[in-house]
Amino acid sequence: MAKNWAQPVTTALRADSQRIADLDTSSTPGFAGDKQQGQTLLSERGVVLSDLQERLFANGRTGDKRSVLLVLQGMDTAGKGGIVRHVIGSVDPQGVDHTSFGVPTEEEKRHDFLWRIRKRLPVPGQLGVFDRSHYEDVLVARVHELVPRAEWEQRYDKINAFEREVADAGTTIVKVAMFISLDEQKRRLHERLERADKYWKFHPGDITERGYWPEYQKAYQAVLERTNTDYAPWYILPADHKWYARLAVTELLIDALTGLGLDWPPADFDVEEQLRRLDAS
Ligand code: AMP
Ligand code: MG
Repeated sequence: MAKNWAQPVTTALRADSQRIADLDTSSTPGFAGDKQQGQTLLSERGVVLSDLQERLFANGRTGDKRSVLLVLQGMDTAGKGGIVRHVIGSVDPQGVDHTSFGVPTEEEKRHDFLWRIRKRLPVPGQLGVFDRSHYEDVLVARVHELVPRAEWEQRYDKINAFEREVADAGTTIVKVAMFISLDEQKRRLHERLERADKYWKFHPGDITERGYWPEYQKAYQAVLERTNTDYAPWYILPADHKWYARLAVTELLIDALTGLGLDWPPADFDVEEQLRRLDAS
């Protein structure tokens, strides 16, 4: 177990029939240290993550079919972008395949909801990152009835079958649902309206969506109850403390990559012979 953790992050955050309405979004499950210790640890652990990711990439180059997919879900301002910058930002970009899923385009709307998702699945050796995902199709789509109930109701089973297929093809799936309080969201939206460098992140619709908070909580609850499988587990991440959220996701990825038991690929040439050739050259 990593330093300062009283409990493995996978145990501390694994979804297990909790009521998200009761979640303390300012808690730091499993972590015994404070912010300062958390930040120091984040930079140390970022190095470990980067090493593991490089192994994944190297193995992908030599025929290993495996990959990792991080799915990030959360309301606006929950910190998904911060995870991408501060956690994924610590690894080599050539091994990362990042996708943000926004409102579907006209072309995407003409296809099944998983169509655009399939196209962005990580290839062997890659760490795929989804900033929003197919879960929007049972979150925003459910809350705003973008499709009839009969249709979104079927999507949970379709998602499970899809993720089973993805996992069987060699992708380790890590799903993280980030939760902040309604007050914390207000603070963060305030900041977006007070700083010129943050206007670009703000949409007037974000305030409208705050009015649907209970409906979103209900929709998230259904996601966690109906799509939390052992081949694609959900982790419930209290995200009021950005430092904690970043550290926790770093540990979740380290855990997933460690589970792959990745060694460096062996040389497919005779090292001694190549050394002799090099010295003679
Ligand atoms: P942002 O992540 O702030 O760039 O916002 C992306 C927006 O796209 C959010 O309002 C999402 O709810 C919306 N969005 C993402 N996926 C879907 C989807 N499948 N259907 C409808 N809206 C979506
Ligand atoms: Mg937004």
